[in-house]
This record gives sequence, C-alpha cells and structure tokens, in this order.
Amino acid sequence: MKNFDPSAAIMSLKQFGEFGGVNPSITDSSTFTFLGAKTMLDTFHGETEGCFLYSRHWNPMNFMLSEALAAMENTPAAWVTGSGMGAITSTLLQLVNSGDHIVSSVTTYGGTYAFLKNWLPKINVDVTFVNTTKLDEVKNAIRPNTKIIYTESISNPLLQIADIPELSKIAHEHNLKLIVDNTFSPMILAPYVLGADIVVYSMTKFINGKNDCVAGAICADKSFINSLIDVNNGTAMLLGPVLDPLRSSSILKNLHTLHIRMKQHSKNALFLAEKFTEIGLRVSYPGLPTHQGNELMKTLMNEQFGFGGMIAIDVKTSENAAALMEAMQDKGVGYLAVSLGYFKTLFSNSGKSTSSEVPENIQAEMGLSPGLIRFSVGLDNDIEATYNTIYSCLKDLNLIPDVA
Ligand code: PLP
Repeated sequence: MKNFDPSAAIMSLKQFGEFGGVNPSITDSSTFTFLGAKTMLDTFHGETEGCFLYSRHWNPMNFMLSEALAAMENTPAAWVTGSGMGAITSTLLQLVNSGDHIVSSVTTYGGTYAFLKNWLPKINVDVTFVNTTKLDEVKNAIRPNTKIIYTESISNPLLQIADIPELSKIAHEHNLKLIVDNTFSPMILAPYVLGADIVVYSMTKFINGKNDCVAGAICADKSFINSLIDVNNGTAMLLGPVLDPLRSSSILKNLHTLHIRMKQHSKNALFLAEKFTEIGLRVSYPGLPTHQGNELMKTLMNEQFGFGGMIAIDVKTSENAAALMEAMQDKGVGYLAVSLGYFKTLFSNSGKSTSSEVPENIQAEMGLSPGLIRFSVGLDNDIEATYNTIYSCLKDLNLIPDVA
C-alpha cells in the first residue's frame, strides 16, 4: 500500500482523443457498425478485443474512464455505472442466488442498508448485519450458504475503519468475496491492494467532486467484470445501469485533480476536527488519536492523502443539529445538504437524512446519536476563517460544552 501511488498510476496512462486530442473523444453513439457480420457475432460472445457493440455493454469513453479507475485501484479491470447504487446492486446481484446469505456491516450508507434489509429478502437472500470492526462477530455470522462479506472502508456515517486485510483473510478462508465500498476514501485506501475482491464506488462524491451528476464504479478482476456484462446473465448488461459517455468524459477530467482535492479535504477536516476537540465537542475523525480506528488506519492508508474529508460531531439532539446547520448555512460555512465530496462544505443530520432508512432502534444500537452532524469538509483556502464562523454559530446557540 505504502509503495502504491494511485495518482501516478492514473497519470502514467496515455489516453488520447481520436484526432490526437489530449482528452479522449466522446463517442456519443449507442450502437456501432461492423465491417463483417462474423465480427459482430464474435463480439456478442465476448470473443473480440477492442470492438464495441452497444453502449449498454461498452462505450469507448466509458472504457477510458474504467481504465483510469482500474489504474487507480490497481485492479485488472473496472466498469462504470449510472449511480453508486447501480454499482452496489449489480455487484451483489451478480454474486448471489436465491437461498444465499450475506454478512454485512451494519453501518453502511442508508440506501445500501435498505437494499440489503428490505429488497434482497424479496429474492430469498438473507443478510446478517454485524459490527465489522469486531472480527469475531463477522466470523460467527458466516453460514454454509454465505457468499459475501460487505463493508465500507470508512463507514457512513460513523467513520469506522474496516480492517480490510483481516476481513480478506476471513473471507478467503471461507471462499467468500469481500466487497468494499471505498466512496469515502479514494486514493487514501486501496482496498484491492489490501485484499478486497471487488471495490465499489459512488463516483457522485469525491471522485467527481462537482455534485453535478450521479455515477458509480465497480473495480475488480477481468473475469468478474466480464461476468457483469455477459449478454446472457450479466446483471449490469441485463439490468442496464450504464453511465452516459458524456458524463464519463467529465468525470475522467475531474479524476485527474482528485489527488490534489483529497489532500486539501483531509487537511481542512483535520484542522476542524482538532479545533472541535479543543473546545470539548464530541468529534469523530479517523485522524484523531482518540478515534477508535486511528492506529489501524495509519497501517492501511496512503499517508500523503491524509485521513479524509469526513467528520462527525455530536450535538446530542436533532433539534440542536437542525439549529446549528441552519445557522452555518446562513453564515456561509456551506450547505445543509446530503451527499459529500463537494468543493464546498456540506452538512446533514445523518439520523434524519442519509441514514433515515435505518430504524431508530438500530441507529441507537449502532451508536448513531440523534444529534450527529456529518460534515463533508470543503476545499476552503482559509479553513481557520471557516472554523471561526462555525465557532460563532456554536457559541450563539450555547452548544460549546465548556460555556453551556
Ligand atoms: N455508498 C456510499 C458510501 C454513499 O454515501 C452513497 C450515497 O450517498 C452511495 C454509496 C450511493 O451512491 P449514489 O447516490 O451515487 O447512488
């Protein structure tokens, strides 16, 4: 991990446009012609290299973006989807049959939780939710029909750190696939290098960084990617969550600044986390020595990119959270909005937004306080000024523990 530089891997690719353009050309065609009928048939059966058939399967621009993502993750292949949920659901459905079982982290993005909890039982797939930071819980949940261990590398919204190498050992001892959602920590963590089998992303977040589209990605070995787009039984090919090539083009250009953005998000988040700690707020940030996963993260991370741009603070009640978020939006700290990885700071009260699919009793069990505000810290040039504004909001609302 320490020797792997994802940004250098992307930079080293030579991807040109059709007429030598420095950016690959957008191919806005849904279908492709063939000079010979036999080549078309061979392409249908996945027996040709470099031929394009139909854009739900492959498109040249999607191929370029996938190539860059595979370089970033050090996976042999990748495939891009129209949303993060498209990536997650296609991957899971490709690997399970009716009667199978999945072991999943209980702290995941709410949409993922809802799919695992509410949707998969419709096709008789059972899911056991565990705290994946407790490896014994993971081991004990495995059954003879288990097929997958699913986790987020840095979990949403509690920011727990998954011990990917240890989870990988457990998965492989039982012949299971380890799937890791790395949405919160592109470049910081390289799950495939650390032992995951499949890495999924919501590119809507840090990878694209502009909040102008939804998109996703699946990074894995060639046989898994080919199975996803198999014309007879590939979930991606048959359910059709393909990304539009116009979007692929803009995401690829944004990917080339990801390394700079991740460093700035991390630098700003660490600054705020330390300042919040100094004034006695309850803060969760993997870069703080007080964070449960801090030591583990240090052994897994690519240090140059920092501990990431996500912070959670706990102001005890959802009423306090609402008042603080409204004040911060009013004073220009950022926006009261879900999602993350944007150039401006975004904040939301997780229990009432991105984790609202998780029932309140489960939220309490997993340690998700009603007053938890998740911050996706922006690229602010003067983060001290931002902190001073947040401090004044906290003070006005009597939310500073020493003062209150
Ligand atoms: N994974 C994580 C960790 C997320 O936070 C989200 C969305 O917030 C998703 C997946 C789903 O991605 P999308 O909204 O692009 O479908």
